[in-house]
Amino acid sequence: MIPFDFIYCCPNTIREAADAVQRYQQEKKQAIYYSGGSEIITMCRAGSIHPDVIIDIKKIPECTVLEKSDRFLNIGAACTLNQIKESKLFPLLGLACGRIADHTNQCRITLGGNLCGTIIYRETSLPLLLSDAEVTVNGPKGVRRVLFQNIFDGRVRLKEGEWVVQIHIPLWALQARHAHIKKTTQEKIDYPLINVTAIWKDDVLRTAFSGVCSRPFRSSQIEKVLNDHRLIPEMRAEKAVGFLPEPAYSDVEGSGGYRAFVLRNTLCELLEAWQNDRV
Ligand SMILES: Cc1cc2nc3c(=O)[nH]c(=O)nc-3n(C[C@H](O)[C@H](O)[C@H](O)COP(=O)(O)OP(=O)(O)OC[C@H]3O[C@@H](n4cnc5c(N)ncnc54)[C@H](O)[C@@H]3O)c2cc1C
Repeated sequence: MIPFDFIYCCPNTIREAADAVQRYQQEKKQAIYYSGGSEIITMCRAGSIHPDVIIDIKKIPECTVLEKSDRFLNIGAACTLNQIKESKLFPLLGLACGRIADHTNQCRITLGGNLCGTIIYRETSLPLLLSDAEVTVNGPKGVRRVLFQNIFDGRVRLKEGEWVVQIHIPLWALQARHAHIKKTTQEKIDYPLINVTAIWKDDVLRTAFSGVCSRPFRSSQIEKVLNDHRLIPEMRAEKAVGFLPEPAYSDVEGSGGYRAFVLRNTLCELLEAWQNDRV
């Protein structure tokens, strides 16, 4: 049970959502967007957040879309991880969704919630960073559409009152050669010790990471080294680890040194598999 009163608002259209945000902003009420609710309910119960208004976006048709158009696969922010996985439309994103939490939670956690939530891993961001995905956001000043990588620096940078409506993935990425390697310390469903996600575009390897540092990232320096065919895989992997954007992350799952060690070995395996046409 949530131990305080709040206003529950369930708009049917993007316009209604924008009007609601504006109205509550004027009334100086703190509004929060609600998607799967798994994180919001936990945080409200624990007393770590105390919103005045909860705006549930699940009834807005644009937020539940999961279909291809001429050039993009469009995925509404309120689609659950399980819907995305079961659709099989973007296999790499499906692999990411299928390794977050357990099946019961996958039926509840949404793409928007995973990208915008407080838990640092945000593993669904990795396929989006690699596939030149775009994102539609809405807010008090209307709708805008931007490249996902221009709005994501480990977390989605939204202006006040903005929220994610849809993600758009270019069709080329849907069937691109890919790899998804998530290593956990104990159980398969744990948070990642490391997650290495890869896509090949025109035989050039693109990589993005979660768990390795305190935020998910993609690095042009790392990709340059990994694509340097003059070096053997071990050398490339070793050099790549030297280009982490910050020291490797330490927590109960593993120390920074251990994470760097596992990353080096994982990259080496990935490069060898590529070299031997096994991926
Ligand atoms: C058991 C368990 C295991 C987990 N394991 C992993 C894991 O291994 N890897 C991983 O990456 N994550 C993991 N998570 C984290 C999970 O993906 C996040 O907690 C996620 O926020 C929950 O999604 P939700 O749809 O329930 O979000 P909600 O609770 O609805 O929202 C979470 C936050 O995101 C905001 N938000 C939601 N939708 C939008 C939107 N469309 N636009 C703007 N803001 C929005 C909300 O305002 C809120 O601040 C795990 C969670 C659980 C419960």
